[in-house]
Amino acid sequence: MNIEAQIKQLRDELNEYNYKYYVLDESEISDFEFDMKLNTLQELEAKHPEFADPNSPTQRVGGEVTKKFNTVVHDYRMYSLDNSYSKEDLLAWEQRVKKAIDGEVSYTCELKYDGASISLTYENGQLVKAVTRGDGVQGDEVTTNIKTIKSVPLQLKGEYPDKFDIRGEIILPFEGFNKMNEERIEIGEEPYRNPRNTASGSLKLQDSSEVAKRPLECLLYNITGRDLNIQSQIEGLQKARNWGFKVPSAAKLVHSIEEVFEFIAYWDVNRHNLPYETDGVVVKVNSLQQQEELGYTAKAPRWAIAYKFKAEQVSTRLKEITYQVGRTGAITPVANLEPVELAGTTVKRASLHNADQIAKLDIREGDEVFVEKGGEIIPKIIAVDLSQRPQNSVPTQYITHCPECHTELVRQEGEAQHYCPNYNGCKPQIIGRIQHYISRKAMDIEGLGGETVALLVNAGLIKNYSDLYELSKTDVLPLERMAEKSAENLINGIEQSKQVPFERVLYALGIRYVGETVAKKLVKHFKFIDAIAQASEDTLVNVDEIGVKIAKSVVEFFDSEPNKLIIERLKHFGVQLEVSEEDLANQSDVLAGNTFVVSGVFTSVSRDELKKLIEDNGGKVGSSISSKTSYVVAGDKMGPSKLKKAEQLGITLLTEGEFLEMIN
Ligand code: AMP
Ligand code: ZN
Repeated sequence: MNIEAQIKQLRDELNEYNYKYYVLDESEISDFEFDMKLNTLQELEAKHPEFADPNSPTQRVGGEVTKKFNTVVHDYRMYSLDNSYSKEDLLAWEQRVKKAIDGEVSYTCELKYDGASISLTYENGQLVKAVTRGDGVQGDEVTTNIKTIKSVPLQLKGEYPDKFDIRGEIILPFEGFNKMNEERIEIGEEPYRNPRNTASGSLKLQDSSEVAKRPLECLLYNITGRDLNIQSQIEGLQKARNWGFKVPSAAKLVHSIEEVFEFIAYWDVNRHNLPYETDGVVVKVNSLQQQEELGYTAKAPRWAIAYKFKAEQVSTRLKEITYQVGRTGAITPVANLEPVELAGTTVKRASLHNADQIAKLDIREGDEVFVEKGGEIIPKIIAVDLSQRPQNSVPTQYITHCPECHTELVRQEGEAQHYCPNYNGCKPQIIGRIQHYISRKAMDIEGLGGETVALLVNAGLIKNYSDLYELSKTDVLPLERMAEKSAENLINGIEQSKQVPFERVLYALGIRYVGETVAKKLVKHFKFIDAIAQASEDTLVNVDEIGVKIAKSVVEFFDSEPNKLIIERLKHFGVQLEVSEEDLANQSDVLAGNTFVVSGVFTSVSRDELKKLIEDNGGKVGSSISSKTSYVVAGDKMGPSKLKKAEQLGITLLTEGEFLEMIN
């Protein structure tokens, strides 16, 4: 087969697997087989740029950065929808429809997906443009970002019109949303509030590879264009499915308003089992000819109406507003409620988010408040029942000082949150920072847990992580539940942490926005802590993947006198604050571009040393054998399944000796 045909075949196969996996939720081949094919395609495309294609499945990984999104006028306006909240509203809408139309009317019922609307333009079966709704007349072109969403077909299947627009909603399913938040919490960032805003914020990210990392989906609901040969909404949905779009199966054709009510009643209960958020149902007149007769008002079609579900809501008394201080000093106001049952759980607390939110609701202690469980995981307070407000009620004064250390709070321009600036003297910040320092991915100090850290700080034994290294067994023995043996383990654990390599130490310092990956990048580039500490913002942003936000935070961290002192102390105690001499001498780029998997038992070096050698010489360490693997370093007793996999993929096996020769 010639190269061009081979490339085409791979693209078709990958598109088909993508479709099966992301649209139909079926997996036909393993991730690893998929990766293998993608890899082959990437290599072929790299070698043969003459066959490049902006819609190749290789484009899904992103990488292109958009500085400014172009404004584009929609060929067909993107309308909003009229809302209804009751049977009466719907019956009134049905009356208006029936008045304008002679004869029978059928309806399509669909779920209303809660995300960000998008309009996709296809020409000759290829995605050419993706535009946000904007004001309905014009929106922003976000094609590069949308291409990274796997359920958006880049190439259509079957018979399709030459040119059309298709509208849908970009959503973020709960599972992916929660996972993103876990990762944010880990680097000391505030979690995202809800899937909808996060989905909609994703569309305008400048770096498309960031978008590619987010598990977004695109659900479609409307086809627009000329000469489409589609007679009804339900037919349009079915055709869209045939062309490869993701159209939820909940969509249903019904023949009376009673059936519409049934659909609503069913989904009002069952929506809680959906993997994503829905805030209602959209009812559409099914016949496109009837739709045309009905036409549009200034802002919405007359042939469709949204029915909004009532969020589950209860009222209860707000006992007290308290304030929490996070590891980064961020203040979160918390509503402490009279316990109440809501959507199957007992609710005692709700987040009030920030000062603006409290002011907006004019919420006060003693108020009767309405609590709702919407898409958000944490229940929220949506309003105050003013009729129940006690006589002597006084407006809430947002705290001006930290509840823990009494320092005056600050609020930076453009930020919603107040912060306690007492970085070095505020207990929850101190404890939180040390807890981060000892955590598994950071210094991984055995024998020391989060609770013990709190005990140590409260007993006045430590004030920051550098103090850990001065602790003795006799210091810690008096602590609660601290036996001879555990005290010993603790001190040993701390001692051993002096061997933890610099990149993990840098991560452990808890510099805002410096997660594991950024720490590795900084260490690889600067090599010594002093070099990082002295780097200016400009120098920092010139390092691969370091943005302004990170650079600013790094500079600020090392400008602080107390931090300088802590770093000096860590140095003094022998914590690794530079790439070791040995490492430095052993560093090279000879393995750049290659991924290694290490398997088996070795004689002259340990597995960990081997992995380090790979990274020090510019290679990557992979955890499992896949098409991305360049070499397998095979020791004694390599597992037979791994061996088989490597052979199947034709990956070169290296002995320990061969590997060492490679880097020498
Ligand atoms: P609204 O933003 O409240 O005016 O509602 C209109 C928006 O609902 C549209 O712009 C769509 O983005 C969104 N929507 C979600 N699901 C559907 C659906 N099944 N049919 C039509 N619009 C939908
Ligand atoms: Zn404080």
